[in-house]
Amino acid sequence: MIIAVSSLDNIIRDLVIANRILAKEDVVDAYGHVSMRHPDNSNHFLIARSVAPELVTADDIVELDLDGQPVGDEKRTLYLERFIHAAIFETRPEIMAVVHAHAEDTLPFGIADATRLRPVIHSGSFIGSEVPVWDIADNFGDTNLLVTNMEQGRDLAKCLGGNNVALMRGHGFASAGRSLIEVVRMSVYLPRNARALLRAKQLGGRIKYLSQGEIDARNRGYSPYSTETWRAWEYWANRAGCGHLLTRPEG
Ligand SMILES: [Zn+2]
Repeated sequence: MIIAVSSLDNIIRDLVIANRILAKEDVVDAYGHVSMRHPDNSNHFLIARSVAPELVTADDIVELDLDGQPVGDEKRTLYLERFIHAAIFETRPEIMAVVHAHAEDTLPFGIADATRLRPVIHSGSFIGSEVPVWDIADNFGDTNLLVTNMEQGRDLAKCLGGNNVALMRGHGFASAGRSLIEVVRMSVYLPRNARALLRAKQLGGRIKYLSQGEIDARNRGYSPYSTETWRAWEYWANRAGCGHLLTRPEG
């Protein structure tokens, strides 16, 4: 197995691309964020300062520790909800990238308990068969619904468990991936899967979800730099106007 080795500059460039893709694909707007575990220090992660993802450049990327605090002298304002990322990286050592967003199509499934969000389309298989719903009110009562400290972040990470995505009641979702491309892909297809399921419910009758065997078959042999995965990343990056920033690691 060839391990892809990237310089920190390339990693930061990939994170900029991820920000722009998520904005272009309507996963994030002025709010929402994407992070990557630091390649050289697993106790740190990289995320933009408090700025809309569409506007993120390499200079906006800051390095935080697993308490969500800046490493070194950082005076710029940070995302209020950076604790989502810190807590998931702390809880899940295998996770390399995290997205938090408020994508509208996912919201009904965090509010109504009649229908669980599960994969119904092939590209939705990446969200996994179980998508838990986290309700901040369960342990924290009346809040502004934002995850603004480690205690809340850890509670969310606990609800996420070993799954890929957790919905956040009345707020959005958090997704966790083993690579940046994986978490971006998951976060792009999550709202689309949600939209397809919502529309199917409107048509009525029995819903045919993807079976566990189908989900497993889709996920088998996944590689972040396979031709098929790269094809999507390259497409999205170009759509987002940052195709010139692409670097494809070996492997
Ligand atoms: Zn949020």
